[in-house]
Amino acid sequence: MTMSSGTIESVRTEDGVSPRILDGVAIAGEIKAEVALEVQELRARGITPGLAVILVGEVPASQIYVRSKVKTCGELGIHSEMLTPPESITTEEMLELVAELNAREDIDGILIQLPLPAHVDTKRLLEAVSPAKDVDGFHPVNAGRLQSGQPALAPCTPAGIVEILKRSGLAIAGKHAVVVGRSDIVGKPAAMMLLNASATVTVCHSRTVDLARFTRDADILVAAIGRAGFVTAEMVKPGAVLIDVGINRVTDAAEVERFFPGDAGRAAGFAKRGSTVVGDIDPRAFARSGAYTPVPGGVGALTIAMLMKNTVTAARARRG
Ligand code: NDP
Repeated sequence: MTMSSGTIESVRTEDGVSPRILDGVAIAGEIKAEVALEVQELRARGITPGLAVILVGEVPASQIYVRSKVKTCGELGIHSEMLTPPESITTEEMLELVAELNAREDIDGILIQLPLPAHVDTKRLLEAVSPAKDVDGFHPVNAGRLQSGQPALAPCTPAGIVEILKRSGLAIAGKHAVVVGRSDIVGKPAAMMLLNASATVTVCHSRTVDLARFTRDADILVAAIGRAGFVTAEMVKPGAVLIDVGINRVTDAAEVERFFPGDAGRAAGFAKRGSTVVGDIDPRAFARSGAYTPVPGGVGALTIAMLMKNTVTAARARRG
């Protein structure tokens, strides 16, 4: 079965054919190849898209993410700059930095790596980024544009979810999409994008009463919760499309064995590193699905690809 052939109904049968694995790495590769071509065209016209990444302090996870973003820029021909102010930087100093980047013609995208130190006013800073350069899609102007169906720089992870569905040939229009999680970064924009693609959307959160009542009715179930294996097999409709956004590090051997019974590969990885990454959906629920995004190698793989796409979109809109 190729990535883009057919819909889920063509894969799943009554006697339970294996669910389809939605390969985020392969889809991210397709998108990056397209972005690289667009960059080539722009550069031939004298425009090199530019991304500035601000990384405050020394949070190890943030350093890994930022390095990976800068590396991908290099691979696709996008100019990148990494600014690394110290942990002690004030909100005012950060605002000056952002204002300088807003004014620069050669910088098309500005990304402030989160989380910021507690003393820095994150909301004020995100709102200070020019909406035209807001490649993370966090500015209220872009959130508003997304809501009103206008062209917008959309948040990368939810945009990645929609790309996975569309490029895998899975129908969205008319389907019941249930999004568990309502953060501004993932849940809310994911719900909005699925609505814009004509799904019937239900958004659930920590105050939802009888969550399983909703998840069991989902044709497309998006889990963006932040709790390992929270969505269990009984909460899933057989044949549903499961989109697992969660990235949770599990360090308890018994829990790993519970989630991945008899999985020698996982056990070996866990023995080597002392941890394994589990999504928000219990991996044992995948067998019940029609298609699912694995963790790792699913939604997470798309986030940087969509950031690159947003940077080129921003360059085109401003200078193209
Ligand atoms: P947040 O913590 O901001 O939001 C979590 C959401 O889950 C909240 O809306 C919360 O509800 C809801 N929730 C929490 N507990 C329950 C519960 N018991 N029942 C129903 N809903 C619940 O997390 P994010 O949205 O930032 O991230 C979600 C997950 O996605 C995390 O695992 C994160 O690591 C991962 N992630 C992955 C990315 C990727 O590239 N793949 C990118 C960004 C995040 P309430 O609003 O009521 O508190």
